[in-house]
Amino acid sequence: MSEVTSSKIQSTRVGMDAAAIKQSILEHLVHTQSRFPDVASESDWYNALAHAVRDRMLERMMVTAKTYKANKSRTVCYLSAEFLPGPHLANNILALGIWQEVQEAVAQLGLDFESLLEEEVEPGLGNGGLGRLAACYMDSMATLKIPAIGYGIRYEFGIFRQEIEDGWQVEKTDKWLSYGNPWEIPRPRLRFNVHFGGHTEQFKDIDGILRVKWIPEWRVIGVAHDTPVMGYGVKNTNLLRLWSSEAAESFNFQAFNTGDYYGAVNEKVTSENLTKVLYPNDEPEAGKRLRLEQQYFFVSCSLQDMVRIYLQSGDPLDQFHHKYTAQLNDTHPAIAIPELMRLLVDRNQMDWDTAWHVTRNTFAYTNHTLLPEALEKWPLDLFKKVLPRHLEIIYEINSRFLDEARMKIHGLNGHLEKLSIIEEGARPQVRMAHLAVVGSYKVNGVAELHSELLRQNVLPDFHALWPDKITNVTNGVTPRRFMLLSNQPLAHLLRERIGCGWVTDLDSLHKLEALADDPDFQQQWQKVKRRNKERLARHALAATGQKIDPDSLFDVQVKRVHEYKRQHLNLLHIITLYNRLKDNPGLDIPPRTFVFGGKAAPGYFMAKLIIKAINSVAEVINRDPDMDGRLRVVFFPNFNVKTAHCIYPGADVSEQISLAGKEASGTGNMKFALNGALTVGTLDGANIEIREEVGKENFFLFGMTEAEVSALQQQGYHPQDYCQNDPELKSALDFLASGYFSHGDATLFRPLVDNLLNGDPYKVLVDYRSYVDCQARISEAYRDRQEWTRMSILNVARMGKFSSDRSIQEYTNNIWKIASVDVF
Ligand SMILES: *Cc1c(COP(=O)(O)O)cnc(C)c1O
Repeated sequence: MSEVTSSKIQSTRVGMDAAAIKQSILEHLVHTQSRFPDVASESDWYNALAHAVRDRMLERMMVTAKTYKANKSRTVCYLSAEFLPGPHLANNILALGIWQEVQEAVAQLGLDFESLLEEEVEPGLGNGGLGRLAACYMDSMATLKIPAIGYGIRYEFGIFRQEIEDGWQVEKTDKWLSYGNPWEIPRPRLRFNVHFGGHTEQFKDIDGILRVKWIPEWRVIGVAHDTPVMGYGVKNTNLLRLWSSEAAESFNFQAFNTGDYYGAVNEKVTSENLTKVLYPNDEPEAGKRLRLEQQYFFVSCSLQDMVRIYLQSGDPLDQFHHKYTAQLNDTHPAIAIPELMRLLVDRNQMDWDTAWHVTRNTFAYTNHTLLPEALEKWPLDLFKKVLPRHLEIIYEINSRFLDEARMKIHGLNGHLEKLSIIEEGARPQVRMAHLAVVGSYKVNGVAELHSELLRQNVLPDFHALWPDKITNVTNGVTPRRFMLLSNQPLAHLLRERIGCGWVTDLDSLHKLEALADDPDFQQQWQKVKRRNKERLARHALAATGQKIDPDSLFDVQVKRVHEYKRQHLNLLHIITLYNRLKDNPGLDIPPRTFVFGGKAAPGYFMAKLIIKAINSVAEVINRDPDMDGRLRVVFFPNFNVKTAHCIYPGADVSEQISLAGKEASGTGNMKFALNGALTVGTLDGANIEIREEVGKENFFLFGMTEAEVSALQQQGYHPQDYCQNDPELKSALDFLASGYFSHGDATLFRPLVDNLLNGDPYKVLVDYRSYVDCQARISEAYRDRQEWTRMSILNVARMGKFSSDRSIQEYTNNIWKIASVDVF
């Protein structure tokens, strides 16, 4: 595009003033939606507005790509099976800096801005924290002007929509693409073959060198769909490139001609199934072939794309790792390691040692979990069926690695079993975490404690072998989405008092410390919280029909429902409060509203039972006239990024109560504290660092330390002792088991209670007393509104560390070694 045409387009079509935006919306209404204003629906207007905004992003995206290419910029490829970006429209308007202008344009058209924003269906292409982290990092990389491509999967159906029926979670298909997706640009010409199955053959090439040929059994095609990711207040616009699967041939003509029409079409359907649906589990799917195929599919497309882009530069492939660093978001994309080896050795005839040098300097791996059941492994026989060539490459990598390790530790063979990428046994498996560690130049945990436990417990032998390899980058969240966008009352107050610098320099929230004791400011702070609580109450009413009182203390736990996160500990406290109030109606404690939200994996019985238990307890409490104005419990259905926007800012108390040593980092904890909630939490994940930052007097700590948990585990844990020694705990469990909350059905919650009494894997009963007592301190503290407000202000003032900008800066400096690139 010549410069003349480019500026002409800008001046005539993508002006940033209200008049130009209005004109643009109207044009899209007619020319994209094919509707006249008088018959347009809210959805038509949303699409017209989205396209008007998109027009203003695309040029930035093209200029960015051109700049990066001209500079031969080093680029981060963030490989992630999940991205959970949340609604795009409002975020993009903010990043473009045209919030006022769009509001004006929309108002002139007689439309309601808020309800237009409500029209957007978010891309639920992730389960929770891991996918959301990827999205926060995409935001921060663009804002910090780091050239980056996010590579992932364009699932046709994202995480299921959660409905609550009779207190139970019911999963509904997430048809997020039904009404189109204005934010993606399909790139039908950008397509790659991805092969599966078959076998391998050895042959000698013309130079007499032994090579391997993979003769696959079937193939699918991956097609790129690009979503621009704009930096805030900069021109840099990076790419989120998601792959969607297509059949290689629309019809198998052989079958078609012999009359097997159904069989022919079926092949097409099977290929397109590959990217059909996101696995709705935050733990690996044991032995699910389609999941392995999804992983390989997106990794192969991404690496082929990276090689394609690289070769445009004319540089030799042995310098690939200078151009790229690829971050593996958990082990889901770890097959990238043998895949890059295959591309270099088999396809580009590179010698093994050079290829290994390139590969090992391309990848870095982020570990996200300490739960042993969450460490991904694939059965060897399955792996061989799907990726026979990759298995051979993994064997070769493993054998060379074990030779290296043997020499380095100068030890006997027994030790090596623990390091091996292959786990031997009745059904041998590929340990994806070991593959990721061996094939990466750096490995990082996501909070200080987590990284330390990685070094000490999960990967100690690797740590002994390579003491510099495992490092820490504590997670962060983007202040653009989780403050500026979702907490506008607070953003306005901050702008008046400390300016807007915090949006891209979160440490400047420190300026609030000076205001923490200012009675005027405290009052404004309370007003902001009050407005946010009213908003949460409105949304809760719309979603559940349940009225909640913004004058009560809002105590919130929203996150995936999992035993280790201990929603049931929260529930036992609620039952305890209920019992106390019933036994002692005169008891003077501040009224509380407990808000829960979160999805359970569809196959996770105990998590689904916990949801049912929360709803059952809620039903009884909310119906009991004695609890009027004292206690309320609501389960907010379908927790996702969109609902998160109104939930985090509305909280007074943030529940971060996982068993110490189980939550790798958590990011919900950061979003709450950043929005002025006080945390009740254990010394787990990033809670520890949050407490260090905000000050221990501004954090409600309870529960065992990780060391105490380990010690208890060693000495033998007997949950029933705790029950017998604590009458309130016993009573809470008895009530749950008795049928009191289940219309007299004493069987319904028996499995939950039995689970706690016989085993209690997450030591709910141990931490119960300390938790309940801590909650009593919270109730006391809430009475002193001035002191509470002061603590809330100090929390926000000291959360600077938890910006994802800081995390990305650390990745940039300590791992990726990459420079920012200005785009003009
Ligand atoms: C932040 C976030 C999470 C992660 O929450 P944790 O409390 O860290 O588990 C999950 N889902 C959504 C929608 C989020 O925004």
